[in-house]
Amino acid sequence: MAEQLAGSGRLAGKIAVVTGAASNPGIGRSIAHRFAAEGAKLIVSDIDLPGVERCAQEILDAGGEAIPLRQDVTQEQAWIDVMAKTIEAYGRLDVMVNNAGIAELKKMVDIDLQNWNRHIEINLTSVFLGSKYAALEMRKCGGGSIINMSSVAGIIGTPACVAYGATKGGVRTMSKSIAVEECEHDIRCNTIHPGFIWTNMQARDSGKSDPSELVLPRMHVPLGRPGMPEDVANVALFLASDEANYVTGAEYVVDAGLTCK
Ligand code: NAP
Repeated sequence: MAEQLAGSGRLAGKIAVVTGAASNPGIGRSIAHRFAAEGAKLIVSDIDLPGVERCAQEILDAGGEAIPLRQDVTQEQAWIDVMAKTIEAYGRLDVMVNNAGIAELKKMVDIDLQNWNRHIEINLTSVFLGSKYAALEMRKCGGGSIINMSSVAGIIGTPACVAYGATKGGVRTMSKSIAVEECEHDIRCNTIHPGFIWTNMQARDSGKSDPSELVLPRMHVPLGRPGMPEDVANVALFLASDEANYVTGAEYVVDAGLTCK
């Protein structure tokens, strides 16, 4: 039996697009579920169509609303199509979550130009395109919230993160500039910086099959455990909601204290 939605309407009436929503466990899927439970109507997109169809079906089965779309976030035309579909289906856009990303972690001397360019396109160019086309729609409806997924690797130096960290640092500062530019349209733009969150990406990067296998000493990660996708989704929910209507250009770490030392 499908789990029924149990929220308190914090996003009631809002229309949201979430990218990278297919992976399970994954941050985008968890954000989509949390938003739907709080009353948002969703477009969920991913390069993996069957995966994002499953995500949308789970939301529908729980009593929510979600439309799945295949989208390669690096393609400008795909963004134009996603926005057109959003407006056709729901008439407006309130919240954009640029979450899709990759992490093929290698040391600098082992990174070839193809790997570097792939990170830039999927993790950074996509966020520029997503923010731009979302803002153009949000301007028409009096404002909105853009939430861009960065990383702790966008704040501090991390081994094997030269390409990945460059993209996430770019997302961080680009988002602050977007916040400054778009404030006159009442569009807020903030970043989230997860630490070790248990998802398919984390499983791939760590080579572990269960979060309990991740050893995170408290001297490095003060809470001493990995986070779950829901921990990130809860912060995204706040930033998407009107509770955050005085919050823009901010960076929210969800990292168990990793970067506070
Ligand atoms: P994930 O489990 O790998 O999910 C990411 C999703 O994005 C996957 O479904 C992936 O599809 C999709 N995707 C990849 N390339 C795409 C493209 N070109 N167009 C559309 N979709 C594409 O990763 P996650 O851990 O949930 O990460 C979500 C975001 O959080 C990423 O931006 C990541 O950098 C960031 N983050 C994660 C962590 C962590 O510990 N998990 C920490 C810091 C930051 P495929 O699986 O088919 O590639």
